[in-house]
Amino acid sequence: AKGQIRVESENIFPIIKKFLYSDHEIFLRELISNAVDATQKVKTLASKGEVKGELGELRIDIKLDKENKTITIADRGIGMTAEEVDKYLNQVAFSSAEEFLEKYKDANIIGHFGLGFYSGFMVSDRVDVITKSYKDEPATFWTCDGNPEFEIREAEKAERGTDIVLHINAESEEFLEEERIKNILNKFCRFLPVPIFFKDEQINNPEPIWIKKPSELTDEDYRKFYNELYPYSETPLFWIHLNVDYPFNLTGVLYFPKIKQSYEIQKDKIQLYSNQVFVTDEVKDIVPEFLMLLHGVIDSPDIPLNVSRSYLQGDPNVRKINAYITKKVADKLEEIFKKDRTAFEEKWENIGLFVKYGMMTEDKFLDKADKFFVMQDAGDDKKYYTLEEYKSQTEALQKNKDNKYIILYTTDPVHQDAYIKAAQAKGYKIVRFETIVDAAFINHMEMKWNDVSFTRVDADITDNLIDKNDAAESVLSQEETDKLKELFKLDIPEITANVEVKGLSPDTAPVVATRPEMMRRMKDMGAAGGP
Ligand code: ADP
Ligand code: MG
Repeated sequence: AKGQIRVESENIFPIIKKFLYSDHEIFLRELISNAVDATQKVKTLASKGEVKGELGELRIDIKLDKENKTITIADRGIGMTAEEVDKYLNQVAFSSAEEFLEKYKDANIIGHFGLGFYSGFMVSDRVDVITKSYKDEPATFWTCDGNPEFEIREAEKAERGTDIVLHINAESEEFLEEERIKNILNKFCRFLPVPIFFKDEQINNPEPIWIKKPSELTDEDYRKFYNELYPYSETPLFWIHLNVDYPFNLTGVLYFPKIKQSYEIQKDKIQLYSNQVFVTDEVKDIVPEFLMLLHGVIDSPDIPLNVSRSYLQGDPNVRKINAYITKKVADKLEEIFKKDRTAFEEKWENIGLFVKYGMMTEDKFLDKADKFFVMQDAGDDKKYYTLEEYKSQTEALQKNKDNKYIILYTTDPVHQDAYIKAAQAKGYKIVRFETIVDAAFINHMEMKWNDVSFTRVDADITDNLIDKNDAAESVLSQEETDKLKELFKLDIPEITANVEVKGLSPDTAPVVATRPEMMRRMKDMGAAGGP
């Protein structure tokens, strides 16, 4: 036999009250979202000539009455008839969103699941609704103490729209504090598309730049918006305006902050919105790890508002969004590099960390980064090479016996100056890898780029840096070498383990201390233990 599962409202209501959202503060987001939807609907209907009379000032007001312990959310939206109240509020999980969207395709509606309204009961003993539809029908009063019996009757209300009155319960009195409400509004409602007022002050910017066309915006607009998001921050380097409507909807603006050192990295600076409603600033599963260094806003109605983190990870849209953003960021970097290489190089100090991190963690990005990843020469001209340029310019001198391109690098141009000079005298090109990510980057890239090998400029005497099968032989006998080692042991104990005596050309220093590449790297990684 077949059947249908029935739901007992007496049993389900306490569950909704307790578990609908883990954060009780969400109630305000949900009820304001409904007010926004009702307002957007009335706008849509008016544009089709379906609303008679004046639209009035389309705004939402949040009113706090500490004495009577109520919070009221008042809108001038579409309102509800008595019949609609019965249909939408008396039925759990019943939403009007789908019907409306079917009729008016391009409307921007936040609602979806038909549950949000009940979040009011998480913080209330009783919820009252006074509503008047745009249709010529009497106003309706509905009240429910969550038992879940409700009362419905005709009411007095002159203006079109809906007032939701929450009678805040004893456990939720924190929400009767003005500051608390302000913070919640600031978090969730900052960029909602309808003006929202609290204490006679408008708390939102209904037209954030990400909903506008890039062609309508100036650099100043982007900078201003950055400042609005992160007051007191340094101006960003550049930004990417995201705008896609197939195969998913996504808008947003991502900024490249000025970052030189990894300790300056601040993750969780990207805010995720859905139709201008704030969802979260923990975008870990939506944005590739390395892109978390970026700042800004992503807005996608295709990222569901009410779902859990683990669900997001597996969501196919989320994965597509991830790939799309990676591609956009790589394309933008390539574009700047191609359009104005000098400007790109001037910013490299700030972008480099980000690009390297991306190349290490995201293969899709690595594939594209070849075109704009650069290395800076340690010489006075401070030239930059792409990998291809470095290879072609060093081919004759720096290819070793295994046909690998040896990238000679310095981690400290001041202390390694003598080695750099000696190598440069041979015509070698030394590039700088000085930042904290560089050691990991080098290890990583040797695995990815199989025709490249990195050697630090002080890894051996200059003659032996590029292994061409003609390594210098020692000019001393074994006995002499051992004696010399003993002498070094007395003076510089920490390197004696590595002492080697090799033949030196007459024009170089009589003694050169070197640190073999592999031994040093193992020590850096803590694997070798001891000097
Ligand atoms: P959803 O927003 O996902 O549709 P809700 O539970 O939040 O679900 O609301 C259910 C329905 O109640 C809405 O779809 C809408 O038709 C109606 N509704 C709720 N709040 C309002 C309001 N302020 N004005 C007009 N209609 C509303
Ligand atoms: Mg809703």
